[in-house]
Amino acid sequence: MSEILEEIRAAYRRVGVTLDQPAAYGTYYRLLCAGCGRMVGSVGDRLLPGMADALVDQQVDLYAAGLLGCACGHQQAQARAITEKGALR
Ligand SMILES: [Zn+2]
Repeated sequence: MSEILEEIRAAYRRVGVTLDQPAAYGTYYRLLCAGCGRMVGSVGDRLLPGMADALVDQQVDLYAAGLLGCACGHQQAQARAITEKGALR
């Protein structure tokens, strides 16, 4: 597994999202809800180091507000836990 993929995986893990197997040609990965397994989006692996964390950081508020993520509320709970701690990491 590539370093950038590990980084993307770790970044999304913070908000309760797991990466599935590559969807197409190994460049796009499905994002799955870590709570119920439903697909919540996709991400490409053509990111530069540090971008995945920055991307998820930007989305934490949206996850916490329930505007992003799965309808089961798993990401919302994770993101709220992060924002309530007052620290993103
Ligand atoms: Zn879910």
